[in-house]
Amino acid sequence: MRLVVAHYGVEVVVRAPDGTRSRLAVPRDCSLLVGDRVRLESGGPVVLESERVLRRRDRRGRTRSVAANLDVVGIVLAPIPHTPDAFVDRALVGARAAGIAPLLVINKSDLPGAAELASRMRADFPDVEPVFEVSAGRGTGLAALSDHLARGLRGVFVGVSGVGKSSLVNALVGDPSLAVGEINPVSGLGRHITSNATLHSLPGGGEWIDTPGFRDFGPVTVTSLDLARFFPGFEAALEAGCHYRDCRHRVEPGCSVIAAVESGRIPAARHAAYLALLEELEQAEKVARGY
Ligand code: GDP
Ligand code: ZN
Repeated sequence: MRLVVAHYGVEVVVRAPDGTRSRLAVPRDCSLLVGDRVRLESGGPVVLESERVLRRRDRRGRTRSVAANLDVVGIVLAPIPHTPDAFVDRALVGARAAGIAPLLVINKSDLPGAAELASRMRADFPDVEPVFEVSAGRGTGLAALSDHLARGLRGVFVGVSGVGKSSLVNALVGDPSLAVGEINPVSGLGRHITSNATLHSLPGGGEWIDTPGFRDFGPVTVTSLDLARFFPGFEAALEAGCHYRDCRHRVEPGCSVIAAVESGRIPAARHAAYLALLEELEQAEKVARGY
C-alpha cells in the first residue's frame, strides 16, 4: 500500500508505509489524486481507496478533483481581503456533501476587524466549529490549530486569494516547496513543474495538502434537491423532515424551512442566500441536461 503524496501531471510521487518515496510516470489524463491509497502493480498503480474527494470547477467549467481521503477543509477568512458570504456557503456545502468536516480559520488576527469577523462567523454559522483565530504572519494561535489536527487529520485550505492560505501552510508545515524539492533536486521536480497538489506531514501529527491556485470551488457534486441538507443553518428545520417529498423549500406553504423563516428561526437573508445557490444549481442542471 502506498499513498500518493504529489501529483505533477505526468508524474506522481508515492510514499510507502516506511516513508520511502518513489516516482511513477502516469498518463497526462490520469485520475490519481493526492491522498489516494494505491497498490503498485506491474500495469501501474491501482487505487484502493479514494473517498471524501474535494471537487471544484475549473475556468472552463469542468469538474476537477483536488485531493482524496480528506478529513477537514479549512475555510480561511481575513479582515482583508473580504470574503463574500456566498463563498463560505459554497465551501461549507461542498465540504459537507463530500463528507469532509469544515472548520473556519480567521487569519490576520493582528489586523483590526479580525475579532469582529470571528464573532460574526460564529453567529452566522453556529453549527460550524471549531473556529480558529490565528495570525500566520505573527505565528499566533497556530498551536490550537496544530493540536486539533494532531490526532491524524488530513486537510486542505480554501479561501479567496490573499487571505493567507500559503502563509498558513508555510507556518504549519515549514517551507512546503523545500520539502517537495527534496524528492529530486536534480530534475527540479516540484520547483519548475506546476504541481496540482502536494501532501505534507505536520510536525505534531496530521497532514496538510498544499494546492497552489486552488481558490474557488462550487458545490459541484450537490444536486438542487440535496442542497438544503448541507446548507448551513437549515439543520434544525430539517431535522424532523420537511413533509413534502422533493421539496426545494422555496415558497411551499407548510414547508418546514419556510415555517422556520416565518418564525425567525432562519434569518431571511440566509434563506435568500440558499435560494441564490439553489437557482445556480438548477441552471447548471438545465445546462447539463442540454436545454
Ligand atoms: P493566499 O493567496 O491565500 O495564499 O495568501 P498569501 O499567503 O499569499 O498571503 C497574502 C498576503 O497576506 C501576503 O502579503 C501575506 O504576507 C499576508 N499575510 C498572511 N498572513 C498574514 C497575517 O497573519 N497578518 C497579516 N497582517 N498579513 C498576513
Ligand atoms: Zn420544504
